Amino acid sequence: MLLKAILFGAIAGIFCGWYFGPAMQSVAWIGELFLNALKMLIVPLIAAAVISGISSLGDIRKLGRVGGLTILYYASTTALAVFIGLVVVNLIQPGHGIDTSTLNIPEEISQRPPTTFADIILNLVHPNIIAAAAETQLLPLIVFCLLFAAALTTVGDRGKPVLAFFDGLNEVMMKLVIWFMALAPVGIFALIAARLGAAGGGEAFADELAAVGLYVITVIIGLTLHFFLLLAILKLLTHRGREYLSSLARALVTSFGTASSSATLPLTMECALEAGVDKRAVRFVLPLGSTVNMDGTALYEAVAVMFIAQAYGYDMGVTQQVIIFITATLAAIGAAGIPQAGLVTMLIVLSAVNLPVEGIGLLLAVDWFLDRIRTTVNVWGDSVGAAVIEKVLPQPIE
Ligand code: ASP
Repeated sequence: MLLKAILFGAIAGIFCGWYFGPAMQSVAWIGELFLNALKMLIVPLIAAAVISGISSLGDIRKLGRVGGLTILYYASTTALAVFIGLVVVNLIQPGHGIDTSTLNIPEEISQRPPTTFADIILNLVHPNIIAAAAETQLLPLIVFCLLFAAALTTVGDRGKPVLAFFDGLNEVMMKLVIWFMALAPVGIFALIAARLGAAGGGEAFADELAAVGLYVITVIIGLTLHFFLLLAILKLLTHRGREYLSSLARALVTSFGTASSSATLPLTMECALEAGVDKRAVRFVLPLGSTVNMDGTALYEAVAVMFIAQAYGYDMGVTQQVIIFITATLAAIGAAGIPQAGLVTMLIVLSAVNLPVEGIGLLLAVDWFLDRIRTTVNVWGDSVGAAVIEKVLPQPIE
């Protein structure tokens, strides 16, 4: 029922944004309210979920094994996504014949300090965990909670009240998620209608799409292939299949509406729990996935960089493409689960293969739209990860 309402909200949002154009920006505040409500949950939810999820695994050795397999699984599927992106972009060659003569470095890019690999590693640890939480920097928060939970498993009985607190907090946060989920149909309607309105409505947006149409098609084909590949992996490694996809559909439509895996995380967790995934996997694998596992972003970065190379007439040989393969995988891991984060970490890939940063100007107009599709694939990738890792969990301790 709620899913139907959410789908209706999304379709109505596309329809109204398309036909009423900029006028729909008047409902933007409703979308923002929904987004703020979801974001409000993230910090306490992540802290409670990661600490209670990890602690309930038992001891540090089990945590090490499950954690290691989770990272391995996420890294492999991200690399697979980049590979698919490279194959598709080499076959379709969307960049040939694109005019690059009038490009300037877009302001939103030139004003940002460049991200390096050292920055990605440094981002794992924040000197002030309260400040990290206040800035919604989720990765250092997760790292802190991981370490906290690991230590908690070593202090025996004296840690039990602490665990009981975070367990209870997690239940309360999930109750709030269920309440807020009821707002999703209206929230998603407003987010989509207002964004399409801001793009000038349907006709203006269609013109922008047409200018780089083949690129958009290439990204969408790649993302669709990866989406179904993940479904195949799910079927192969677990007993789940299409019904899992239907259970997750509410979260997937929300990720399309919000363009943020982090903001969608509360709903993703609730949908996975409703689908019957072990709560230890839900509490640990999904928060981690929403910040580090970005299959859609990785695929998109590889396609986008190759598109820019083709547009500028650079010939990318095997070595260059191997560099793109590695850097796109890492850049996607470094991207935060917020709107258009991938566009910024793509600078790492561009500079690794010495391509002009101005090339990003080619993609800017349509990026908000592709962002929504790749975020949907990101969230689907995280959810499949939770179902797969559930299979390697140790026996429950209670
Ligand atoms: N918006 C994406 C996410 O939140 C990240 C990106 O590709 O820009 O998952």
